[in-house]
Amino acid sequence: MTSERQIIFKTKGVKQTRSLGKKLGKFFRKGYVVLLNGDLGAGKTAFTQGIGEALKVESQVNSPTFVLMTVHEGIIPLYHADLYRLTSVTDVEDLDLVAQSSEGVLVVEWPERGIEVLPVDHVSVDFETLAIDDERSITVTVMGEKYGEMANKLEEYG
Ligand code: ADP
Ligand code: MG
Repeated sequence: MTSERQIIFKTKGVKQTRSLGKKLGKFFRKGYVVLLNGDLGAGKTAFTQGIGEALKVESQVNSPTFVLMTVHEGIIPLYHADLYRLTSVTDVEDLDLVAQSSEGVLVVEWPERGIEVLPVDHVSVDFETLAIDDERSITVTVMGEKYGEMANKLEEYG
C-alpha cells in the first residue's frame, strides 16, 4: 500500500510562500516529482522560486510558460515545467518529463494537463486563494514509499 502524509500550511504574502518553498525544498532529492496545483496567481511560481533557493540554483526561476521546461543548475538540478499551454495528454506524454529530469527534482505547474501520464507517487502541493487577498492555503501531500524520508520530515511540522 502506498503511504500518504498530508499537512496544511497558510501563508500571508508572497515572501512567506517563497520561504515555505525553501523550507520544503531542502527535503527534495534527486528523482523527486513535485506537482503544483492551483489557479493562475495562486503562488506556484513563487513557491518554486523558494525551491530554487533551497537547491542554490544559479539562474532566476520565473514562469516557464513559453518554453514548457527550464533547467536550473544547483546542488541538484531543478527542472521547472509549466504545462498551462498544453491541451492534450499526448503532448505531455511526448515531453517525457520524468525521464528528462531523472538527475534532479522535477517541479510541474499545471500537472492536471497530463496527470494520467505523471507518476502516481509524488509530492503534491495544492494552492488555494482565501478571502483575504494575500493569504494562501497550501496543502502538501506526500504519496508513495519513495518519499518516506520527506514524509518523516513533514511529521516534524505536524
Ligand atoms: P502562479 O505561478 O500560481 O500563477 P505566481 O507565483 O506567479 O502564481 O504569482 C502569485 C501572485 O500572487 C504574485 O503576484 C504574488 O505577489 C501574489 N501573492 C499575494 N499573496 C501571496 C501569497 N500568500 N503567496 C504567493 N503569492 C502571493
Ligand atoms: Mg506560474
